[in-house]
Amino acid sequence: MEIREWRRLAIQSVAFFMVVLVSSLGFTRRIRHQLEAGVRAEDYKASQNREMVSPQEEKEAPTMATKALVEQRSDTYIKIPKEAVASPAKVYLQNRYMDFQVILTFQGVAPGSIDEGNILRVQGYHVSNGKLGKSDSIYRKIEVADQGHQNHEKNKVQLKFTLKKAYEPILFESDEAYYISLLAARKAHDKIVVVDAGHGGMDEGTSSANRKYHEKDIVLQVQEKLSRLLDKVDVTVYYTRTKDEKVSKKDRTRLANGLQADLLVSIHCNALQGGVNTFGVETLYAGKDPRYGKMSNKELADVILNQVTASTGLKKRGTIRRNGLYLLRHAKVPATIVEIGYMTNQGDMSLMKKEIGQQKIAEGIYQGIMDAVK
Ligand SMILES: [Zn+2]
Repeated sequence: MEIREWRRLAIQSVAFFMVVLVSSLGFTRRIRHQLEAGVRAEDYKASQNREMVSPQEEKEAPTMATKALVEQRSDTYIKIPKEAVASPAKVYLQNRYMDFQVILTFQGVAPGSIDEGNILRVQGYHVSNGKLGKSDSIYRKIEVADQGHQNHEKNKVQLKFTLKKAYEPILFESDEAYYISLLAARKAHDKIVVVDAGHGGMDEGTSSANRKYHEKDIVLQVQEKLSRLLDKVDVTVYYTRTKDEKVSKKDRTRLANGLQADLLVSIHCNALQGGVNTFGVETLYAGKDPRYGKMSNKELADVILNQVTASTGLKKRGTIRRNGLYLLRHAKVPATIVEIGYMTNQGDMSLMKKEIGQQKIAEGIYQGIMDAVK
């Protein structure tokens, strides 16, 4: 069930500030660098496969891209010459796509060895470094966080690139430099799906009549099962959250729109206080035509509803047009909210709380997504 607008505003007004060490050294210069675009893919070392890092996860990501990914690299990339970072023990890349952030970490490099001056921003034949121009089309912010550990083996330097939209970053290296290719996600992947587990963190959503179960947990458990199914097919999936945390509705739609995803499915549970005999599945959609994608919101709502009810045997309540809901109103891609059942109804609830029931719901959403992207 959607929380009311006033409550959303109140929650969103809580702001978080991060203090980050920013190196302001360096200066802006533009030079023509014709050699850049001529570097051949086979010159690059390729090792492990790419792996999507979940929105806020801090785990280490694989270092280098495969040759195939290197070959589809963009002519927009970041170059860090190796003369600045002599033989680091470890180099890894994190894609914090919910924040449009790409973080490159060098472990085991001398303090002060990297500053804005030796981070080269390449766009075709144009190379720049130092301070960003105010209207830079790619980068919102570049930050260098250097631990400053005098023992360089223990020192860690993080380069945080905040971008203006979602890119698929690919890290690779040649003998001379490290590169992060910034390919628009839409160009990197054939099929892009955004799955949104509703609510999270202090926003618990609705709950069962006995208050024992909360919507935010049920939808995450369903999403976990859905993700295992989607992992096996050739669809690139982005999740707006993968754990119990608060994510604003603005960030949820921004991700789907920034990716120009094929579709956005938001998973929720319904409730009707005092309405214990109300049960079944609904999918909600906005009447407008999405800017991106190949289907209408209603068509997406239809396939998800049909598959979830077929898979679970739950009552098909129907598709409901809801133009006012934030997520549906702001999505520029085909979008639907699937209300998988009523938490205030005993029958729906007994299915939604069990592993087997959640598995059936996940299979239904999975089939609906496959119908939609085929
Ligand atoms: Zn909800």
